[in-house]
Amino acid sequence: MELIWDQTYECMEREEIQQLQLERLQATLNRAYKNVTCYRNKFNELGIVPEDIQSLSDLTRLPFTTKEDLRLNYPYGMFAVPLREVVRIHSSSGTTGKPTVVGYTKHDLKTWSGLVARFMTAAGVTHDDVVQIAFGYGLFTGAFGLHYGSETIGASVIPMSSGNTEKQIMIMQDYKSTALVCTPTYAITLADKMERMGIDPKNLSLKVGLFGGEPWSESMRKEIETRLCLSATDNYGLSEVIGPGVAGECSCKCGMHIFEDAFIPEIIDPETCQVLPPGSVGELVLTTLTKEALPMIRYRTRDITSLDYSKCDCGRTMVRMKKTMGRSDDMLIIKGVNVFPSQIEEVLFAIEGCEPHYQLVVDRIGAMDELEVRIEVTENIFFDEMKKQRAFLEMVEKKIASMLGVGATVKLVEPNSIPRQEGKASRVIDKRKI
Ligand SMILES: [Zn+2]
Repeated sequence: MELIWDQTYECMEREEIQQLQLERLQATLNRAYKNVTCYRNKFNELGIVPEDIQSLSDLTRLPFTTKEDLRLNYPYGMFAVPLREVVRIHSSSGTTGKPTVVGYTKHDLKTWSGLVARFMTAAGVTHDDVVQIAFGYGLFTGAFGLHYGSETIGASVIPMSSGNTEKQIMIMQDYKSTALVCTPTYAITLADKMERMGIDPKNLSLKVGLFGGEPWSESMRKEIETRLCLSATDNYGLSEVIGPGVAGECSCKCGMHIFEDAFIPEIIDPETCQVLPPGSVGELVLTTLTKEALPMIRYRTRDITSLDYSKCDCGRTMVRMKKTMGRSDDMLIIKGVNVFPSQIEEVLFAIEGCEPHYQLVVDRIGAMDELEVRIEVTENIFFDEMKKQRAFLEMVEKKIASMLGVGATVKLVEPNSIPRQEGKASRVIDKRKI
């Protein structure tokens, strides 16, 4: 029997979910309209008032909210409650300009912890677990979200924070950590380090890994599961919407259940902003239904995924979102084709001899886009045998071309020559000046 943290909500019938969503949406809109100038202005511009929203399908009439709105109203302009009711502030790093600031009321923190407890339970964490959190503690929501979720479940939390890989491994051995929380990239870094230190993960106590904070592929899951001897699960969230706790995988690992009593998901075409029919791949848009301090109406996440409303074997009724394929602003358009780094990753991970480290270089030669994929190969692979090397390259190029629908040149590079990063990976160099 699959353990479910909050059976009442997670297993609701579709009709009940929709009824609850409509009630909560109307309440959210009223509060946002009354208390947040940015929303009131946007609604007024379109000539709508919260009372116009009488059904869930009316949602499409509402304006989108973007990261830019948060920046323009920096720091507290989007808050729907006075600052004295805010008990926690986080922020997310901006690649350009000011970071975005997010706030939580006491009630928001409780809601958040409960949502994280749901996906941690779905991943297999119980009060018997020892959870090692290797996300950075600070303004970033990741570490605190998982921290409070673990405590809500009653697990023992080790607030290790990020970095210091050797110490992470020592703690893991000595404290007998059973659950690991970090980015998937960092999980690979840990596996690499263990290998170099001569530590066999089989001798550790690890059971479950909860990996988030960046997109990762199915092949990367297999790689992590084999190398760290644990069950690797994905979860999804973003600071602007709540932090981790928007969605998470159950034991079926066939998509992440979105907690629909707290969020309404939509999928739009990132270019035209039109809502796409169920099953389509596009940008995820989220509306919050329970947040007090920072309600988000139709927030454009920039994450690319699709929704699956079919029944899940675990017993949860909430819609599942696919693993994210990348961000709509990471999307590379090469010769007119949409390319996500994650697709190339998927191909590479499935090939024997490829290390999970790669780099994409995009350039424009004349009027033509050129994509070069640099891959590291394992030390014992034929750098000396030219014929075998050429056959290997051709095989990889073929697989990439069939996955992307656009050709690429594959180049082998020496082991350890692609820069490693702890935390988020940056794998694309775009030299095009457009
Ligand atoms: Zn499920």
